[in-house]
Amino acid sequence: MAATGVWAANSNVSAATVSAISKSNANKNFGLQIWSIQRELPNDVPGGLKKLAEMGYSFIELALYNAESGNIWNLPIADFKKLADAAGLKIISSHVGLPVRGAFNLQNFASGRDTWKKTCDDHASIGCKYIFQPGEPPMRSVEDVAMVGEVFNEAGKIAKAAGLIFGFHNHAGEFQYVTPGGTEKLCLGVSRRGLPEGSKVIFDGMMEATDPELVKFQLDVYWAVMGLNDPVAVMRKYPDRIRVLHIKDVGVLGESGLMNFQKIYETAYANNIEDFIVELEGNTGLTQFEGVKRCADYLLNASFAK
Ligand code: MG
Repeated sequence: MAATGVWAANSNVSAATVSAISKSNANKNFGLQIWSIQRELPNDVPGGLKKLAEMGYSFIELALYNAESGNIWNLPIADFKKLADAAGLKIISSHVGLPVRGAFNLQNFASGRDTWKKTCDDHASIGCKYIFQPGEPPMRSVEDVAMVGEVFNEAGKIAKAAGLIFGFHNHAGEFQYVTPGGTEKLCLGVSRRGLPEGSKVIFDGMMEATDPELVKFQLDVYWAVMGLNDPVAVMRKYPDRIRVLHIKDVGVLGESGLMNFQKIYETAYANNIEDFIVELEGNTGLTQFEGVKRCADYLLNASFAK
């Protein structure tokens, strides 16, 4: 507030310029995966959420939902939603692992069905749009990938019935190969030449094994790069399946030089992707709130980000 006052006092032109920038910033639409601030947000949830809105975030994606208590951290999900509303932040998405104990197959998912239904109902009750499995189930063979696909389709049906879109969030390992009857993932960047017939990249296998009507994908663009893939090429290959992005870099967005965010955004807009979710992990040498503020500033200043 003090800074605005100084600007306004200097001249009318400065005040108008500041106002114009604020207005264009206010129209930008990007969110934050709150895992990015998981150490610091619990100290002051209402204040922390307000800070995010002031930084320019318009929505958040939840993490660490507890199906037994129905809580996000120590707050009932409905109370968390009230605090987000008060801060002016929408909650559009949540990362929740499927309740599967043991091997990741339909049989083991059966005992978690009720938990998953409650999870979906809880998230639907706060107006969430998406629910994403954030981690890679064990997949060591082509057959494992097919089993995971069956579980995802079932989970997707339950989510859809609750009014949610279910999907999967990748890391780097999904860009490794598996073979028919295999017992391990093959190294990143391995040549397909010499692999047995029927070998495939796990990510491609997951696309094949899941119903496009029931399972969407949240592409983490940083982890795609860590998986030796170009996220632009991945988006172009699966325009209808990849519906949300995790906008992530090594640290603060744009600082590593590793990520071509302009091209990523252009491709995403061409694919009618609407939801861009910032994620910050790793040691940046900053507090988590300072880090996510710098990420917001990067997007506010990036002409390619709407
Ligand atoms: Mg991510």
